[in-house]
Amino acid sequence: MSVAPHTIEQLREQVYRANLRIVEVGLVLLTWGNASAVDRQSGTMLIKPSGVDYADLGPHTMVQVALADGSVADGGLRPSSDTETHLEIYRAFPNVGGIIHTHSHYAVCFAQAEQPIPCFGTTHADHFHGSIPVTRRLSTAEITEAYERHTGRVIVECFESGGIDPDAVPGVIVAHHGPFAWGASIQKAVENAIVLEEVARMGYHTRSISPLADEAPQELVDKHYLRKHGAGAYYGQTGRGGSGRTN
Ligand SMILES: [Zn+2]
Repeated sequence: MSVAPHTIEQLREQVYRANLRIVEVGLVLLTWGNASAVDRQSGTMLIKPSGVDYADLGPHTMVQVALADGSVADGGLRPSSDTETHLEIYRAFPNVGGIIHTHSHYAVCFAQAEQPIPCFGTTHADHFHGSIPVTRRLSTAEITEAYERHTGRVIVECFESGGIDPDAVPGVIVAHHGPFAWGASIQKAVENAIVLEEVARMGYHTRSISPLADEAPQELVDKHYLRKHGAGAYYGQTGRGGSGRTN
């Protein structure tokens, strides 16, 4: 999962566009969402500012935050209130280049029901190698003190304690809150956020047709995930430029 080199200015543009894109595709109502990207070389995260109307957003308004300590670069606006959650994910998952947080409808329903999104079929398995986990609830102390940082830590804990690879399952739903999705690039993170919501919707309807619907067989899940990802991937137009992963 190599990512093309970029300058901070290019990344600023990409983060701006991703923040608009998640509204365009219907994942975000009002201001219920945010997109960020990280430049590992300079240790810089770029994220949407807090409480600015979409009409007033531009690449220049994306806020530059230090990955190490969360400090905002001189002259920057106040970053998204979820900044500390994004930082915790970047610090713990070294291959993540972009993160999307939304309150997309079906994913939030699973979050409110404290249920993982089961891997019912190949649409899901093409992008997520197994069910999308739900975190535990935050404790009272975690909600009271450094809430956003603890939200990030609970996400990381969910993957570590569950033995889940965040590169193979690039998203999670936070209990009673909503989804976070990520990817090696911010463009990939947007795609995964779209897929996460769509498989939540499919999963909801699958369960409504058959409350006892079973997850897809493991060998089918493996087949679909591994033919697009990893060392033996053979899906798409490899060797012809581009990502080779278009559908
Ligand atoms: Zn939220």
